[in-house]
Amino acid sequence: MSEVLVKEIDETRQGEAYAPFADDPNRFLKKFYIESYGCQMNFSDSEIVASILNNEGYGATRNTEEADLILLNTCSIREKAEQTVRNRLQAFKNIKDKKPGVLVGMLGCMAERLKSKLLEEERLVDIVVGPDAYRSLPVLIAEADGGQKSVNVLLSREETYSDIAPVRLDSNGVSAFVSIMRGCNNMCTFCVVPFTRGRERSRDAASILKECTDLFNTGFREVTLLGQNVDSYYFTDETGNNITFAMLLQQVAAISPLLRVRFSTSHPKDITDDVLHTMAQHHNICKYIHLPVQSGNTRILQLMNRTYTREWYLAKVKRIKEIMPDCALSTDVITGFCTETEEDHQDTLSLMAQCRFDLAYMFAYSERPGTLAERRYTDDIPEAVKKRRLEEIIQLQTKTTRENYDKDLGATYEVLIEGNSRRSDQHWSGRNTQNKVVVFPKNNAPLKKCDYVNVRITGSTGATLLGEMVD
Ligand code: SAM
Ligand code: SF4
Repeated sequence: MSEVLVKEIDETRQGEAYAPFADDPNRFLKKFYIESYGCQMNFSDSEIVASILNNEGYGATRNTEEADLILLNTCSIREKAEQTVRNRLQAFKNIKDKKPGVLVGMLGCMAERLKSKLLEEERLVDIVVGPDAYRSLPVLIAEADGGQKSVNVLLSREETYSDIAPVRLDSNGVSAFVSIMRGCNNMCTFCVVPFTRGRERSRDAASILKECTDLFNTGFREVTLLGQNVDSYYFTDETGNNITFAMLLQQVAAISPLLRVRFSTSHPKDITDDVLHTMAQHHNICKYIHLPVQSGNTRILQLMNRTYTREWYLAKVKRIKEIMPDCALSTDVITGFCTETEEDHQDTLSLMAQCRFDLAYMFAYSERPGTLAERRYTDDIPEAVKKRRLEEIIQLQTKTTRENYDKDLGATYEVLIEGNSRRSDQHWSGRNTQNKVVVFPKNNAPLKKCDYVNVRITGSTGATLLGEMVD
């Protein structure tokens, strides 16, 4: 995957451990350490786990040496992610050997598949908890404290953790992720998510609105509504009203014009004109859509069970630009899926050239156990070919990104300040509605984090726009 273009699976955050709570030197008698891998949903889940553990008297630590409970929130999307997790578990086993009594737990997507192997065969963990079973953590910890190996990997058709207020650890205090649904019903043949995270279910709209309102009232200025397929959000409330994703978006946007609203991920088959019009009508719904294409070839898309064609995807992009000409687009692409020919690969390149994505997350196909592709097809593209094709699409995307950034020169954007720039405390860093990072000098102006400011773009470096404030 290209380093410069990463975000959805943010490589800079892989293995991130939470910081201790700012206000808690002595509040918690026991400490937990949690490291998270994978997509934003997993990072979001770790905040739910933190909330459950707080209630059990555990405070967070960034230091494994002082932890009583070490947790790893795992990802199964690609083989590499699983291998990283295994290496970390081995390292934790060494800590445990030195400090008996420490419990090690594995959470998330690897739980179901590897439970017996890691618990019994390799004895790397004491607790295994699947993504729908975090409420049972206190019981499992108690069992494990008593010397039993504890497992709960049951998937649920109802669990959305809607009543649990996530603990915003390590947050910048400006933007937060809000989970609006769990699981996925789509069955893309390459993907483990439907097996590891279960059936799709939508969270109670009222609880989503409450969480977003609370965030706004505590100073946050941006929420990202999260789900594997947000456009199929559908909730029937107590009075029988059906709430679609477009309606939910509208309601979240209505909390305050000062609250920016983002969402991820959209499926090309599900994103509706209603959603696009709702975005266009609200200044505070950010003009940015992550619309994974996966391949530019219709035959490969069919093998992937994406249920749209190349033409359908291109028509969707055209529609988005008709309704919101300034809308930024990003995508996910997989190279070297089963039977992909050079011509199929060229179709992906030509689609990318046509769509001119602002950002792309690009992956070489990695066969995952239990998926439909593993059962039905042969992973027949040699690694070297997958990598070469990946390099080609990365090169094309890097060029497009560069050109798109150059086009921003001279434009003025409203930027939400997120904090100091990474390189200098004399510069602010924030993002524009299209999700591009913008850095500009503070010039002693009376501004602070969470303020909006207009910035004129004067240049760019890598994936960052540079600018100066304007009145
Ligand atoms: N639900 C989202 C969607 O429909 O695009 C994203 C799901 S997944 C967490 C994120 C991305 O990982 C996918 O869009 C796909 O490009 C990539 N991915 C999933 N399974 C993969 C596999 N077996 N090999 C390579 N990439 C994969
Ligand atoms: Fe996986 Fe497809 Fe569901 Fe995305 S939509 S999570 S790629 S099955």
